[in-house]
Amino acid sequence: MQDKYYNMKFGTKAIHAGQEPDPTTGAVMTPIYQTSTYWQKSPGEHKGFEYSRGTNPTRKALEDCLAALENARYGLAFSSGMGATDAVMKLLQPGDEVITGSDLYGGSFRMFSKIFSNYGIKFHYINFANAGDITPLINDKTKLIWIETPTNPTMQIVDIEAVAAIAKAHNVLLAVDNTFASPYLQNPIDLGADIVMHSATKYLGGHSDVVMGALMLSDEALYKRLWFIYNACGATPGPMDSFLVLRGIKTLHLRMKAHCENGREIARFLKTLPAVDKIHWPGFEDHPNHAIAKRQMRDFGGMISFTLKGADLKRTFEVASRFKVFTLAESLGGVESLVNHPVSMTHASIPKEARDAVGVTDNLLRLSVGVEDIEDLLEDLKQALS
Ligand SMILES: *Cc1c(COP(=O)(O)O)cnc(C)c1O
Repeated sequence: MQDKYYNMKFGTKAIHAGQEPDPTTGAVMTPIYQTSTYWQKSPGEHKGFEYSRGTNPTRKALEDCLAALENARYGLAFSSGMGATDAVMKLLQPGDEVITGSDLYGGSFRMFSKIFSNYGIKFHYINFANAGDITPLINDKTKLIWIETPTNPTMQIVDIEAVAAIAKAHNVLLAVDNTFASPYLQNPIDLGADIVMHSATKYLGGHSDVVMGALMLSDEALYKRLWFIYNACGATPGPMDSFLVLRGIKTLHLRMKAHCENGREIARFLKTLPAVDKIHWPGFEDHPNHAIAKRQMRDFGGMISFTLKGADLKRTFEVASRFKVFTLAESLGGVESLVNHPVSMTHASIPKEARDAVGVTDNLLRLSVGVEDIEDLLEDLKQALS
């Protein structure tokens, strides 16, 4: 859990935390323990591993590394980001209330509104621009605040420290979906959050070759409750996927630096293009939450969204199909640059009125800026948006 690397710098933890040479062979890389079950010398006498739904050595190395990256005591890996979110929601009971954002990842909104609301859990969807706005919604049934920052796809920033102070004062759990920032840019537990969630499919994996989720947290009692759900419900990842994410994380710090650099250049370049109207990127000084972003994030990341001036759906589709280096695809956080049309792709499960209310309009495109050479990315944007 907390090895000699735990208090070292980020890049060292990314490469080493949770990982020692394999005791049986000396293999430097953590082996892919492709086994479902483990030998017991006599019933109950084993090396800590019984059955791979609950524990697997490759996954364990990954979980310890994940915990170290978020300065948390515990990590839990799930078979997807939604699997991780589902486990947090299963902490709740009928009658409980949750306060969450109106500008959520589409899949989270779908799970809350179509699955858990049927189990008697009530969700309040609000704009977190002012943390103080949540206080009037809190009552003795409120058990969880679930936030995402930066939000997807409009890149709004929520003040984690301010929300955490309110959550603590009312004895409500605070969970933060930290997928967009990655642990390299932002550590919600240091700012007072109880649980951090990641879609490890994105920056942690980093190569668009695996779907996985994670929870990181420090409270032991809460960890035990979540581990029980994880093992009982079984949305846990296999050893091959665990290995891929463990391997991806070794370059997280290098990739994030490059994503941030390319993101900065592209945000500035978009400003010069006449076809572009609004640009959502928290690094601009005139971004409404720039000051909070500067305080709680180490840099501004590689996610940018923008609207096309005067474009209808047809024109937006035309532009989205013209890219040659950016690939038109869902998802984000890989080494390759992607362009996404939220209304028809990632956010199609959100009703139109709800989308329009938060600025997810027909003419919005989202970029996941990769780590290719910047000249080629700028050239591609120039030709697609001309
Ligand atoms: C992708 C994503 C998720 C869901 O994760 P999966 O790994 O696709 O299940 C949740 N939140 C955010 C912000 C995401 O981008």
